[in-house]
Amino acid sequence: MNEPDNAAQPPNTPWTCPFCPLLCDTFGVDVGPPGTPLKLLGSDCPRARSALANFDATAGAGRPQVDGQDCHLDTALSTAASLLAASRQPLFGGLGTDVAGARALYALACETDAICDPAQGAAMMHGLRALQDRGGFSTTLAEVRMRADLIVCMTEEPTVHYPELFRRFGVEEREGVAVETLPLHGDLFDTVALLAALVAGRVSKDDARVPAGLAALSARLQAARYAVLVYESGRLPEQGALIIEAIQRIVGTLNRSTRAASLPLGGGDGASTVNQVFAWLSGLPLRSRAGPLGLEHEPLCFDAGRLLADGAVDTLLWVSSYGPEPAPPAAGVPRIVLGHPGMQLPPDAHELVFIPVSTPGISSAGHLFRTDGSVLLPLRPVYEDGLPSVGEVVRRLTQAVQALKRGRVQ
Ligand code: SF4
Repeated sequence: MNEPDNAAQPPNTPWTCPFCPLLCDTFGVDVGPPGTPLKLLGSDCPRARSALANFDATAGAGRPQVDGQDCHLDTALSTAASLLAASRQPLFGGLGTDVAGARALYALACETDAICDPAQGAAMMHGLRALQDRGGFSTTLAEVRMRADLIVCMTEEPTVHYPELFRRFGVEEREGVAVETLPLHGDLFDTVALLAALVAGRVSKDDARVPAGLAALSARLQAARYAVLVYESGRLPEQGALIIEAIQRIVGTLNRSTRAASLPLGGGDGASTVNQVFAWLSGLPLRSRAGPLGLEHEPLCFDAGRLLADGAVDTLLWVSSYGPEPAPPAAGVPRIVLGHPGMQLPPDAHELVFIPVSTPGISSAGHLFRTDGSVLLPLRPVYEDGLPSVGEVVRRLTQAVQALKRGRVQ
């Protein structure tokens, strides 16, 4: 991979938005005088606008803290390293970072036997579980834009969370592309299962018990030249992997006679990027640990919320560099937080180390994977805030932990 270009981009250069996994790269950012919130140019995307309001081009904002007191970065790093070196089972959560941050986190996780789970781990596991169990067909944003003639939203209106999605699909610019929303009949499990049966011809469309909307949708899917079934992992209920498997059954059936694919939406705040990096470095996705027993992947047991509730971990390293949220969860264990400088820290700062970090695509360079998984985009900063990146902090933390361990052995 090429070294990132650290130069802040000149005004009016297209900017890659890091605030959702669509990674729109045709808009711009207006950087006003220091202290003024950044403004989005070329789009009214509410998600990006609200995220940009957390940045005001102020250099050097945010100081490291230990137990609620401002301190030098070296002090915060050495306190954090002592906590990690003394921990018998650390948990790395949040994981809001980019490729370089993920690579550094993986090395630190190996050094400390940490378990790693992103902020939206449960949603991510739905897709991973389905992929591990049955595999699947998925497509890219570009392919949808070029070829799809029927787009079916399987989990309600996706533009609530991904405001530019239909623009990315080119829905308004192209003729002959239709957008449908899955009409619910019972719950989502029942509806997708019935649609799969209709598409496969196992249930007749003329059966009086079949709702007319679902029968019509199955006919449109069979008639489409290229149907794309879009779903948001974050909207799926527990056991959502079963719904994804049913969606893949529909796609597989259609592909016998025409062309179809799925398009999952999710893995924002760097989660899918960290997952890809961990997978290529270890062969395993997140909710894994490189520990004394070798590599372990436990998609249920390594749920961060469950581990904290059960008291199964004794230190939390929380990473959230894209904004003040998600903040670290309440936890009765020492916490090390690498976060946005505006993050609201809990009033009880006992055994809490806070290190403010830069944001990829705003105040530092970086790389993120897009929601379609096969496209890695470079991020360029729009201003310099002088804060270290997650990758830089974690590399120093790893060296400090290694030095402490060497000291113990000698
Ligand atoms: S849709 Fe997502 S990537 Fe595109 S501008 Fe909005 S927040 Fe940014």
